[in-house]
Amino acid sequence: MAEFNNDNQIKKGGISVETEHIFPIIKKWLYSEKDIFLREIVSNASDAITKLKRLASLGHTELSEEDIEGFRIDVTVDKDAGTLTVEDNGIGMTEDELEKYICQIALSGALDFINKYEGESKDGDGGAASGIIGHFGLGFYSSFMVSDRVEIFTKSYTDAPAVHWTCTEAGEYEINPCDKETRGTKVVMHIADDEKEYLEGFKIRGVLNKYCAFMPVDIYLHVEGEDENEHDEGCECEECHDKHEHEHKEQPINDKYPLWQRPASECTPEMYNEFYHKVFGDFRDPLFYIHINADYPLNFKGILFFPKYNNEYESLEGQVKLFYNQVFVADNIKEVIPEYLLMLKGVLDCPELPLNVSRSYLQNNTYVQKVGAHIVKKVADKLASMCNTDREAYEKVWEDIHIFVEFACIRDQKFYDRVKPALLLRLTDKKFATLDEYLEHAKEKHENTVYYATDVTLQAQYISMFESLGVEVAVFDKPFETQYISTLERYNQNVKFVRIDSDIADILKAEEQAVTDEAMQEKLTALFRKVSANEKLTVKLNSLKANKVPAILTVSEDSRRMDEFMKMYARAGINPGADSYPLEYTLSLNTSAPIIGNLEALLDTDTERAELIAGYIYKLTLLANRKLTPEEMQAFMSESFDILEKL
Ligand code: ADP
Repeated sequence: MAEFNNDNQIKKGGISVETEHIFPIIKKWLYSEKDIFLREIVSNASDAITKLKRLASLGHTELSEEDIEGFRIDVTVDKDAGTLTVEDNGIGMTEDELEKYICQIALSGALDFINKYEGESKDGDGGAASGIIGHFGLGFYSSFMVSDRVEIFTKSYTDAPAVHWTCTEAGEYEINPCDKETRGTKVVMHIADDEKEYLEGFKIRGVLNKYCAFMPVDIYLHVEGEDENEHDEGCECEECHDKHEHEHKEQPINDKYPLWQRPASECTPEMYNEFYHKVFGDFRDPLFYIHINADYPLNFKGILFFPKYNNEYESLEGQVKLFYNQVFVADNIKEVIPEYLLMLKGVLDCPELPLNVSRSYLQNNTYVQKVGAHIVKKVADKLASMCNTDREAYEKVWEDIHIFVEFACIRDQKFYDRVKPALLLRLTDKKFATLDEYLEHAKEKHENTVYYATDVTLQAQYISMFESLGVEVAVFDKPFETQYISTLERYNQNVKFVRIDSDIADILKAEEQAVTDEAMQEKLTALFRKVSANEKLTVKLNSLKANKVPAILTVSEDSRRMDEFMKMYARAGINPGADSYPLEYTLSLNTSAPIIGNLEALLDTDTERAELIAGYIYKLTLLANRKLTPEEMQAFMSESFDILEKL
């Protein structure tokens, strides 16, 4: 420990025996996240100012107007001197405090941890290590990751004399008096030879922009050798009109009052949009945003944005930035936001979490889980209130957000339960309805059934038949929506979703049905099985309301869903051998259509002609049902030409 040398008032010491272990460990562990040293030093500076303000508010000291206006942090890069300096005008330290806080770091607890985790550090787990560093107040020592010597010049807000401390990377330090006149602390980092990038202005600017862009104290960056007043000649900003004034106006690199810290009532849509553009580098406006201000016990603030994604090929990865009292901690915190909401962009400020959090810490933390649950609730509530208060605007964004919302419902029933009143079905006539509204509209015609289409072009014929009878058809045309349909059925046991081409719905049938002629039914079945080359084809006779349509081909809902699931599993590599399920086709012949009557008559007189017509009808129903294969298309074309010739 420190020894006094009476002659020249210099104290010398070694940062306790244990530090021999700590220094190499700090260097090794934090290697991958080296930039955070600057965050640590600048946030200490910011804390020092906050502490002084706090002392003043408690009446322990007095601050002048000038003091309050003048709080600042200066970061100076001096390439020639090989130093990076962070200076604040905060609380400062007396000699005793310096010894206590800097020299006698709370080693015992930290060392226990370090011993425990040293093994893990061999895997380069910077996350675990940075957790310890933050927990045990070793933040300041992270400066040794990039420095071979660090100096502190500090003067306490009390009358105590200023002190100077210097320490080598081996942990040997010296304390002596110095003549610093102004209150506060200056940390001078002598950058090591192999870390010279920290002497580049752009590098330091980049690190400050990442970690310190919203710190609560003005931060100024000075790069020695660069003219700070230098200004782009072409600049047309308002301030430049008064160039003289502008030249003398320093600009902090940060925004002390980030939007999330302000009450939502004070923020305008323009402010949210501008904040979003700046923080996420996205020139488009977000679709909408959610400003969260969670009180005790969660105590966190944040703004979440629903981004506008242009097309399905765009990466849907959002970005949620985690802050600790306005200090940036990390990006894309999967542990805080449920994975199904990860397309959101936003900022979360959680002062309840330590500044240095490791992934494993977050994963098992109940507080984090509660924050996540709160966010889910807020998102669902926001959607519900938008749907309630401005249905028209909500319908406009639904096209953009429905994929995320539906996906979230698949993943989380709690979310579904909350958001249910705001879930819209997109209808074929470009209208929207909630499930309840749909069922209410349909009540008279078909109960507890939702008719849906998956491809409005291909299924156009079926759609027009339903529409002409005033039956609404929902559209589920995204690949994962089959899963969404099953989810909706699971959550609403009494409701059945039926694809419009899976069965001839009763409402399509005419009220009066002719008595089926068994012999004719058999003959027609044989005929269509022959022309379709499908021995399993079911042929039914129905009188449909739409008498222009001679026949409709349907595929049973169950067999189609089974087929879709098998294809999905096969794609996912789960059961690659079995990638299809036999589809059950039914051909419904419309006895109200004159051509079917003609066909029945031809069966006994001109089989060849009957087969030609039946084959052609079948192909038309196929065409209305699904995409033809190249061979089928080829056959269809040549058959069409034959028929034209015969006309
Ligand atoms: P932490 O900030 O997590 O407590 P640090 O190792 O970064 O741990 O700092 C240890 C202590 O040193 C701080 O708690 C503070 O008391 C003191 N300290 C560090 N930097 C400053 C500063 N710029 N001004 C005043 N005190 C400081």
